[in-house]
Amino acid sequence: MKQKADVVIIGAGLTGLTLAFYLKKAGKKVLILEKENRTGGVMRTIHKDGFTFETGPNSGSMGSAEMAELFEDLGDAVELEVANEQSKQRWVMKNGQWHSLPSGLWMGLTTPLFSFYDKIRILGEPLRKKGINPHETVAQMVERRLGKSYLDYAVNPFVSGIYAGDPSQLVTKYALPKLYRLEQNYGSFIGGAIKNAKTKTERDKKATRQVFSAKGGKQNLIDALTKAVGDANILLGINEINITKEDLYSIILREHSIEAETVVSTTGAHSLAQLFPFVEKKLMQDIQQLRYAKVVQAVVGFKQWKGKALTAFGGLIPERENKDILGILFPSALFSGRAPEGGALMTFFMGGIKRPDIIKMSDNEIKAIVKRELKESLQCEATPDLLEITRYQEAIAQYDASSKERLEAISKIEKQYPGLILAGNIRDGIGMSDRVKQARTIASAIVG
Ligand SMILES: Cc1cc2nc3c(=O)[nH]c(=O)nc-3n(C[C@H](O)[C@H](O)[C@H](O)COP(=O)(O)OP(=O)(O)OC[C@H]3O[C@@H](n4cnc5c(N)ncnc54)[C@H](O)[C@@H]3O)c2cc1C
Repeated sequence: MKQKADVVIIGAGLTGLTLAFYLKKAGKKVLILEKENRTGGVMRTIHKDGFTFETGPNSGSMGSAEMAELFEDLGDAVELEVANEQSKQRWVMKNGQWHSLPSGLWMGLTTPLFSFYDKIRILGEPLRKKGINPHETVAQMVERRLGKSYLDYAVNPFVSGIYAGDPSQLVTKYALPKLYRLEQNYGSFIGGAIKNAKTKTERDKKATRQVFSAKGGKQNLIDALTKAVGDANILLGINEINITKEDLYSIILREHSIEAETVVSTTGAHSLAQLFPFVEKKLMQDIQQLRYAKVVQAVVGFKQWKGKALTAFGGLIPERENKDILGILFPSALFSGRAPEGGALMTFFMGGIKRPDIIKMSDNEIKAIVKRELKESLQCEATPDLLEITRYQEAIAQYDASSKERLEAISKIEKQYPGLILAGNIRDGIGMSDRVKQARTIASAIVG
């Protein structure tokens, strides 16, 4: 059977579905090819024993206008759920004790997280010279502008919370581009943030730090997108994709072939060489240098919670604390219906770029870590009613020093093969808001 499509998209995760949604809205004929038997990629909501929990992202931050607009554009098909006020509290551990990350001047001056010397030194941040090395790592930049204790007790846990990564390897320009631009454009993080806030358009203001989910779980966002794209436009369980390039792209599947002017991949780096065998090997290698942090997620539920009151978004553990976990999130404290009344749902994150060994641990070893941390960090000795472990071999892309070569290779390939677009987490950010923004940008470029 022969089929024609304007755009073929590889991967039905958030990026692929969002891209298909906007292309279809603009009248394009789209077809998504997905190797799994379900849509959503790493995003999935599971309902079990009275708990509602997520795999992959537990929550998102409304970091782009496009993310907010996706909920608007989906209308009644999905309801946005914004986390309650507690999400503004973020705990960081120091010497085994939780402390709230300061959110104002007074807290900033009195917090035990940062040294007295750095607290005084930060007053001079707006006056410090701007960096000139575009490949400076996050650790170098933060130490230069803010000081070592800010690196250890704010940025290190923040980077492990987002990237499961190492600030001394991530390059600010690629990994935290907003922070990089603040320094480059305004000469200061503090001064830049103030000036930036004043010049925001109404659309810019849709991008906030608000923590969000979808009512009932993020699966509802995936289901709404899947429905809008239409089952007929999504082929699931497609393992062997053979793509060739002549005038058009020919995509040969087992039982039929598809011709398309445009092919967009939204998979991780390691699927690309097999999908596009006609691309020069060296360029593919430059993309495949991209490393991914391995992450283990342990979802823990209690029908009755008698441990420490979970009055925060969650708690992050700086590397200096030498623990086996990166942090714990408290979804039941933020969103409705995640645990039975009086109960609690939390997610422990382990592994990351510095602890690739943890993913190889047995379930019993991981459970032992959870049990120890429940006791030491959350004052709970009870046995959980729910404990679900998920391992992600390629969880989070690390935008490190190899990023320049990777981005150049992507750009060369796209020039050499018009109509081929390499998207997904190999560029443009790793969070849900970044993925949606990328999909929307590509859709606009295709539609013209
Ligand atoms: C453990 C974890 C925690 C996270 N936490 C957060 C968070 O708190 N906040 C946040 O904003 N983001 C978080 N993220 C990131 C967020 O989940 C992702 O940015 C987003 O879901 C990625 O969507 P995607 O479509 O780009 O990729 P994916 O979801 O990976 O989708 C890619 C799709 O491509 C398919 N595919 C791969 N290879 C092929 C092939 N050869 N042929 C056909 N199909 C193929 C896959 O099966 C998959 O369905 C987290 C991610 C993980 C793993």
